Amino acid sequence: MKVFFEEKHDYSGLKNIIGDTIEKNRLLRLKNGDRVLLKPNLLTDKPLAISKHEMIKAAAEVFIEMGAHVDIADSPGNADSIDGIIRVAGLDSIPAGYYFFDNENEKKYINGFPLAKRIEDYDVIVNLPRLKTHILTVMTMGVKNLYGFIPGRPKKSYHVSHPDPYSFSSMLLSLYRSVKTHLTILDGIIGMQGNGPNNGDPIETGFIAISKDPLALDIAVADYLNVKNFPLRDLSMEQGFRYPEIIGELPPPPAIEIPSGPLLRLPHIGRLRRVAFPRKPRYNRNNCTGCRACVLNCPTGAISMVYGNIIINYSRCIECYTCIEVCNFDALEVYNLNLKRRFV
Ligand code: SF4
Ligand code: SF4
Repeated sequence: MKVFFEEKHDYSGLKNIIGDTIEKNRLLRLKNGDRVLLKPNLLTDKPLAISKHEMIKAAAEVFIEMGAHVDIADSPGNADSIDGIIRVAGLDSIPAGYYFFDNENEKKYINGFPLAKRIEDYDVIVNLPRLKTHILTVMTMGVKNLYGFIPGRPKKSYHVSHPDPYSFSSMLLSLYRSVKTHLTILDGIIGMQGNGPNNGDPIETGFIAISKDPLALDIAVADYLNVKNFPLRDLSMEQGFRYPEIIGELPPPPAIEIPSGPLLRLPHIGRLRRVAFPRKPRYNRNNCTGCRACVLNCPTGAISMVYGNIIINYSRCIECYTCIEVCNFDALEVYNLNLKRRFV
């Protein structure tokens, strides 16, 4: 499977680059009136954590010019963020419809995944991830972005059943095989490094990548950035996935800071590591606004709010880091719990 790389350091002229890459390489053929769904990353209302307005708009314009009817949709990490997401992503000024997969009753089971039923309404699905690091899966790009096709609370249950990086990535591979996307366009112009996917720092990675296959794209990008332990790549290669063909050249990559804690990323030792070196969320009261997003999204009910303060019951915590992912205020971070603290 081919992955197309294009060096890019700003958000101008994206429509031409995307349109030309699709046309020259015959990546997609649309019929007049086809319905296209754009699936950006609309996790939260933090500008660096979601797809850029310019990228969503450029993609929408490309497909509208091809004669398609275009809608934009995603399942946000926290439904309370929706107004902010609309504002930050500038969805009202993009010439396409938009909505959110926030009704978990409107679902259709495919291979056991409760996916948003409305995706059946579209002829073509275009995946629009942004390059970010991720405290559980190391990186989030094309395949992890598919997680947003699961609406609402059922997303939490996968963190309970697949709590470590390798089992969660294995689940993502099953999801990848269950959701047919036609094109993936990755924004790697300004990505996120460090404490991603919500509270990391910007990094100018300086490219966009386009492929018909989100897994091929993820593998190619992780290798370009020299990301050593990337569970999604390791597992897919073990399962015989063919290495992608890279089209286009990029300059040497910047050094990207991946989430801390190398033991987190050693393969297949999740349970042992959790016993020997627990890494739990730590609360920073000074940054907390009391928004309760962590309380509402913890899949095991380990977090409660008492008189405006967060209390984390570590014995119930499975280290999925959903709470850190949904906290918009940097009030939670991964913490290597020391032995003394564990037995207090
Ligand atoms: S406290 Fe945070 S890391 Fe622990 S189970 Fe809940 S959401 Fe996951
Ligand atoms: S820790 Fe973060 S998500 Fe939880 S209540 Fe405070 S600000 Fe909100």
